[in-house]
Amino acid sequence: MRSKNKTKKPFKLIIIILVCVLAFYASKLLHAKKKIQKEEISEAGKIVIAPISTPTPIPIPSTSIVEEEATPKENVFRKVAFGYSIKGKPIEGYEIGSGDDCLFMFGSIHGNEMGTTDLLNKLVAEIRAKPNLVGEKMKLIVLPIANPDGYYDRTDKLNANLVNLNLNFATTDWQQYGGEGTFAGEKPFSEPESRVIKEIVEKYKPRRMISYHAKGGIVNPEYNHESSLALSLWYAEMTGYKYYGDGDWDFSGTATRWFKETTGNAALTVELSELLASDWEINRDALLELIS
Ligand SMILES: [Zn+2]
Repeated sequence: MRSKNKTKKPFKLIIIILVCVLAFYASKLLHAKKKIQKEEISEAGKIVIAPISTPTPIPIPSTSIVEEEATPKENVFRKVAFGYSIKGKPIEGYEIGSGDDCLFMFGSIHGNEMGTTDLLNKLVAEIRAKPNLVGEKMKLIVLPIANPDGYYDRTDKLNANLVNLNLNFATTDWQQYGGEGTFAGEKPFSEPESRVIKEIVEKYKPRRMISYHAKGGIVNPEYNHESSLALSLWYAEMTGYKYYGDGDWDFSGTATRWFKETTGNAALTVELSELLASDWEINRDALLELIS
């Protein structure tokens, strides 16, 4: 019995050791599994902060365009600051259409002739409402206030330097005092406002130019100039304004004379009936036909 016990004892011991080892490894395994599960939970519960992507900057074009309507290419409609007055007021106008046939119209070169500004603003409003009024081949440059210092700050026709701007253009007959005795400036194009008109003509190369004034209800062409005469006769017929023909009206240093002498193209002076009347209904048909 004893010897039998003696042989069984080490065997029992081995079994016990084996069970202990197995239990040890089993507990280790269980612990490891629990640890993995814990890490998975903590990973899932984490608040992930995504890296902030840097947006691509949108390039901003540098330009003097003040406003641009979202219209198709053929219906270009831009408000443009063409320059600045002596007192720093913007000389703003409109570039409308994308054709080659440029028509340039300006008002209030004499600041107290405010109806001319109303007329051109009404034309612009009409075009804004119906862009198709402007023909595909046309480009319009509309400058409602050529002399903003005179328009806003004075009661006479002059600019802030007391110059009659419509005598400040470099014509062959330029003189320092005009027909009415008003000052034409130190020299031709001495004034920023007349230089703006010069720059518009040089840049856009208009085929026709109309200078709006008041008062009198008359139409006056440039002298000895066939295309100016034809345009004036037509405009007088369309509006009923009195036609002042060749030689009836003579001023030196005017924008229209400079335009005719420089470009050879048709230039026309229109005097509305009153200083403050837009005469829109009188001019409407002629204007809509000119821009079509
Ligand atoms: Zn005038």
